[in-house]
Amino acid sequence: MKLAEWRKLVEENGCLEAISKMLERIEKSKLNAYITVCKDKSLQKAEEYDKSKIKGRLAGVPVAVKDNITTKGIRTTCASKMLSNYVPVFDAHVVERLKAEGAIIIGKTNMDEFGMGTTTETSYFGVVRNPYDLNRVAGGSSGGSSAVLANDEAVLALGSDTGGSIRCPASFCGVYGLKPTYGLVSRFGLIPYANSLEQIGPMANSIEDLILLLEVIAGKDERDSTNAGRSFEFREVENLRIGVVKNMSAEEQIMDRFFDALNGFEYEEIELPSLKYALSAYYIIAMSEASSNLARYDGVRYGFSVPELTSWSDYFSRVRAEGFGEEVKRRIMLGSYALSAGYYGKYYLKALKARTLIIEDFRNAFAKFDVLVSPTMPTLPFRIGELKDPLTMYKMDVNTVPVNLAGLPALNIPLGFIKGLPVGMQVIGNYFEESKLISFAKKLEAK
Ligand code: GLN
Repeated sequence: MKLAEWRKLVEENGCLEAISKMLERIEKSKLNAYITVCKDKSLQKAEEYDKSKIKGRLAGVPVAVKDNITTKGIRTTCASKMLSNYVPVFDAHVVERLKAEGAIIIGKTNMDEFGMGTTTETSYFGVVRNPYDLNRVAGGSSGGSSAVLANDEAVLALGSDTGGSIRCPASFCGVYGLKPTYGLVSRFGLIPYANSLEQIGPMANSIEDLILLLEVIAGKDERDSTNAGRSFEFREVENLRIGVVKNMSAEEQIMDRFFDALNGFEYEEIELPSLKYALSAYYIIAMSEASSNLARYDGVRYGFSVPELTSWSDYFSRVRAEGFGEEVKRRIMLGSYALSAGYYGKYYLKALKARTLIIEDFRNAFAKFDVLVSPTMPTLPFRIGELKDPLTMYKMDVNTVPVNLAGLPALNIPLGFIKGLPVGMQVIGNYFEESKLISFAKKLEAK
């Protein structure tokens, strides 16, 4: 449901009625897209809205928030057993901004555990199903956020994107999803997976809705040292020079759809030679950062714990062995290995060098083009359980991770359906040029 449709519904029936209907829909849903539904609070807020007590650009609008973004007094689990009982005492910066604009936080969405995955299958709370085919995945890691949008279980949603986690599920569920420029949106209150790569971003059913949500969440926050201190206001940009990235590809039926969509646009093809290093560099950097980030989960101050205290080291081992899922443990081990003495230069340092090469490739490309386009995902949504080994799953991120390594903004634009399943186009821009991506999406929509 688009925001305009929601507003009409509220105008006709009142917010309380509209929210109650949505909550009923969520209760009956087969998608497993929410980990926590904020029923009472949502109803209370809706009532306040009907009494004209709530003002703001998102007044009375139900927004779903990914469960790795902290919400004061609402359980925030990262879809992990480790945090399954964690109730934060503070709001993330983006949540403060949503509340200041009158939004209703309707629930916390399911995801891959700590954001580690491409299918939402690593969630401790079970897989999220694709609204267009319940036997398929909704993508990941923000699979809950995209599924609730496609199934009218929320009007707007927040996701986070470390290596594609907004764009992949947006593509698999046929919605818009933007990974903003690194530093545009504060990460204060985002439970970290890999800090140098990730951003919180908006997801929506229309480009207009996405603009509004981005304008609300972007801005200065001194509590995130990587925040650029800039706000965002959309400005239409004309005469975009379009580059098609030749070495960001997909299966044939997706490529056909992709070029169909570009029909009528002028574009040139470009190859970014260093992209071949992107997947390896990404996974080494992401796992290394994860291994250090996740060291904080010791079962002492908060989160999952075990009763028996034998020795400290036994205690930590048990907490971490039982509290983390398989994929998370795999990444902690691989990341620790890559950072260990003797291997640091061979893996981590090398990955950083590859990262620099990729940044240079993009810099050269943006001297010539305003936007770069590619298919978002190399395949259609997979069947649940289809990706058997981790490496096959990692490879699915081939078109999305280069953007995070470079810190650039990128948007998924829905391109309709193939055999009933959604397809998406990725459009990438230069730093802080989100307006160009959005302008391109509008032109594509208007075609
Ligand atoms: N699939 C990628 C990974 O597992 C990206 C996940 C994300 O963006 N959080 O690392």
